[in-house]
Amino acid sequence: MPKTEKEKGFVDIVKKRYKPKGAFHIIEANQPIYNKDTGKLAGVTNPRDMTYIHSYGGEAVFFDSLGKGRLMASRCDNKKCETKGSIYEPFRIFCPDCLRKNTVIDITEKAQKTAKIHSFIITHRSGAFNTLPKPIKFINIEFDEEVVTILMSVLVVGEPEIGKKVVPIFRTKNSTYTIMDLMFVVEGTKESELPEDFTF
Ligand SMILES: [Zn+2]
Repeated sequence: MPKTEKEKGFVDIVKKRYKPKGAFHIIEANQPIYNKDTGKLAGVTNPRDMTYIHSYGGEAVFFDSLGKGRLMASRCDNKKCETKGSIYEPFRIFCPDCLRKNTVIDITEKAQKTAKIHSFIITHRSGAFNTLPKPIKFINIEFDEEVVTILMSVLVVGEPEIGKKVVPIFRTKNSTYTIMDLMFVVEGTKESELPEDFTF
């Protein structure tokens, strides 16, 4: 059942402090589990509703940008680092080689021009809370040689194939501020074929 406003938890940061407001733990009545064959009690259900507070820290810019139709990555610009110039997507706050803070960069155009499927897996069964259309076409994406990592995402229009060009799409309406705001479609997909709330 959808929650009312009174049953939701909200958080603001005011003067560097988290200020939670509303309900973060909702208890519901439990139910007995009976063995229909013997008529005996076997256990109980244990319903729990918790709202987690998930802090993004230095990755906040990545999630904030998705809703604006931009794909942010990070790059090591440390002159003394052996792997200087390496671009990380998924976004890494720190360089794994020199441990210095990376520079935030926008790779939207790079992704539009160079993203292709490195490998993929099609999943017909999913875990709890799945909201992706099934079968889920998970894809590993490679960009050009400057990007030294592989990005895991999902293909929502078209069929996956190794080496196939794909382009990012963004949930610019009703953004969730999560990775669910970024998906991919095969190159040549029309704007009218995109899922609701998504744009190129
Ligand atoms: Zn480095």
